[in-house]
Amino acid sequence: MEGKITTYLFYTGILFALAAIISTTLLLQKNAENNMLDALQRECEAFVESAEDITEESFSERSEFAKAEIIEKDALGSRGESFNAKKTEKYKKLMEKQGYARGIIKKDGQADLCFFVMPVSDAYFCVYAKKPSISQTVNNAFPFFILILIGAIVASAIFSVALAGRFMKPVRKISDDDFVFSLSDDHSGIYEELIPILTVKSKAEKMKRQFTANVSHELKTPLTSILGYSQLIESEIATGNDVIKFASVISKESQRMLYLVGDILKLSELEEERGNIVKESIDLYEVSKSAVEALEMVAKKTGITLKLSGEPTVIKGNKSLIYELIYNLCDNAIRYNKPCGSVAVSTKNKAVTVSDTGIGIDKKYHSRIFERFYRVDKSRSKQTGGTGLGLSIVKHIAELHDGKITITSEPDRGTQIKVSF
Ligand code: ADP
Repeated sequence: MEGKITTYLFYTGILFALAAIISTTLLLQKNAENNMLDALQRECEAFVESAEDITEESFSERSEFAKAEIIEKDALGSRGESFNAKKTEKYKKLMEKQGYARGIIKKDGQADLCFFVMPVSDAYFCVYAKKPSISQTVNNAFPFFILILIGAIVASAIFSVALAGRFMKPVRKISDDDFVFSLSDDHSGIYEELIPILTVKSKAEKMKRQFTANVSHELKTPLTSILGYSQLIESEIATGNDVIKFASVISKESQRMLYLVGDILKLSELEEERGNIVKESIDLYEVSKSAVEALEMVAKKTGITLKLSGEPTVIKGNKSLIYELIYNLCDNAIRYNKPCGSVAVSTKNKAVTVSDTGIGIDKKYHSRIFERFYRVDKSRSKQTGGTGLGLSIVKHIAELHDGKITITSEPDRGTQIKVSF
């Protein structure tokens, strides 16, 4: 990027130098024309004042660079000059006012001419010479232009490198390996426009760090107990019935780890999938029916009634992901229920609602429960094999389907979670 900025600045410098050369050429040209008109005026006035006989020939003999022409008063502007009637009037008025007129004309299709004209007795005496050409002007100033160009190249090269270095300093600072952005730090020296990007990046990095720490923590607990219990069996400290008890703990903890790893993989897959999932027409009622059937036994075992109602309603979605979403919601509704409680699943108008008569969730936790590893009831979550990732997965799936989640819940009064597509 620094290289690009340097090149752009360098070219800008050269462009400015070229613009300066063009405007200087135009100024020099104007100056050369004025000098020529001044010379014509001097020559003509001196001739008219001193000559005994004002004729074209006698002027030509005297002048080295100009020619003369005597024009009848009413013939001005009608003898091949390029200017029109309006300009003729203008020159006539000027002659009345200041005694002469001067300017540039094209005459008989020749190159531009500088002319000076003044009235003499009953005619006009006009002298003219070739206008200095632009190539002549450029030729005269050529060494000067070359100097400007060389100076501009050197100055542009120095300034572009120095300025690009200055522009890039804050960017280089943040791309440094040991640069850590913190919202509470002093941000002078960093471009204001970069702060929102850095904030998002820093939040994402913080979340990543937190997630890694949480995963390690979540894995460490079951692993510690697996290790502890297996060592007890290995060293034969545990005997008889204890061995069976400890083996069952090991199996339960391993199962928990497996669920956890499964959920972590699912979440990362969902993040990878962003926008790439295959969608088809699916009936929410049919998918809910499969999820309810899969959980029927679990519900029965815990004494919970699980019911499905509603009507077929078709959405565009990924069948297995929608199944996962409904399954997770039903699974939570069973696990966080009360003895002899019930769970009702209903589908209608492109929405699925899972209601339970369970322990409920305080309003202050409603937004937090969708965060990874956030648990309101930690002990029940762990006891029932929760990973703390179920609702995170639900949220991701809903987002992938542009779905909206609404939650209505109060402690002890049950929970209702509705996902509308
Ligand atoms: P977990 O695996 O711990 O259930 P989730 O992400 O599925 O993790 O849910 C996050 C937390 O939200 C749970 O730990 C629980 O405290 C709370 N929760 C989720 N669903 C319900 C529900 N239906 N009733 C009461 N609390 C719930």
